[in-house]
Amino acid sequence: MSIPLQPNGPRMKDYSCANKCTWCDGCGDFGIWTAVKRSLVESGIPPHGVLLCYDVGCHGNASDKLLGYRFHGLHGRVLPFAAGAKLANPTLPIMTFGGDGASFSEGIGHLVHAVRSNYPIVFVLHNNANYGLTLGQASSLTWQNQKMNSSPNGIPEHTLPSMDFLFSLEPTFVARTFSGDIPQMTEVLKAALKHRGFAFVDILQACPTWNHFATHDYFLEHCYDANKEGHDSSDFKKARQIAVDTSKRISTGILYQREDLPDFYERLVPRQGRKTTPVEEVEITDVSEYMKMFI
Ligand code: SF4
Repeated sequence: MSIPLQPNGPRMKDYSCANKCTWCDGCGDFGIWTAVKRSLVESGIPPHGVLLCYDVGCHGNASDKLLGYRFHGLHGRVLPFAAGAKLANPTLPIMTFGGDGASFSEGIGHLVHAVRSNYPIVFVLHNNANYGLTLGQASSLTWQNQKMNSSPNGIPEHTLPSMDFLFSLEPTFVARTFSGDIPQMTEVLKAALKHRGFAFVDILQACPTWNHFATHDYFLEHCYDANKEGHDSSDFKKARQIAVDTSKRISTGILYQREDLPDFYERLVPRQGRKTTPVEEVEITDVSEYMKMFI
């Protein structure tokens, strides 16, 4: 359910910019891009009050299609940057975006440590089960027996069980939603923005150009809202079970959440009791005398 917008709060148009989206017709990125802006607006966060960190991929092309402070990083490396920014300024909400290719291959180490550190940031997985930007190669999340440009006979490896893996790391927030359901994505992202710790949001994304198995219609037919069916998101065992078992239906919504654990920043002993943030403590030092040594 959407909350009424504040009369003097941010508006969707505040996030608009003149750059045109270049995604393919029917791409799930359009829906996610809209839900991200909607979640920020409905959370009362203006463009100057958030940092949006993008990895490389088709989704990363959103980085100059909306306003706000934005960072566009290297493939698979967006999480360390986002974590560092949050540690420097813990008052700033941070949303981070990565694809399944980067996040579950070269970036997987960063994901592991972001979860176990419980960094207080939102991570949005654009999960289209392939490397869309580089013309449809299989990723580690490509489904079994599906032909992709790099694997015309299907992938020889098994598909990485991403949700089971994620739950093995003892996360504090796991949600799943689908790129065709803007109202649900908006609500999930708003909850993720409020979460105390690392919020992992898996968005099943339609990629009509390269992914012909997990289509918009497939998700419409198979996804159900677990929260509306009475799922208790504090039940870790049940959450893991419904997250992993997608054989008949795909659970969506907030699958698991706990907020009794402190986030990374709260655990840092040197920061405890401080009234200022690290960015406020930066001292301007005149280095001109040192520079003379190199002249
Ligand atoms: Fe979207 Fe796929 Fe086109 Fe990339 S290749 S813009 S993910 S439809």
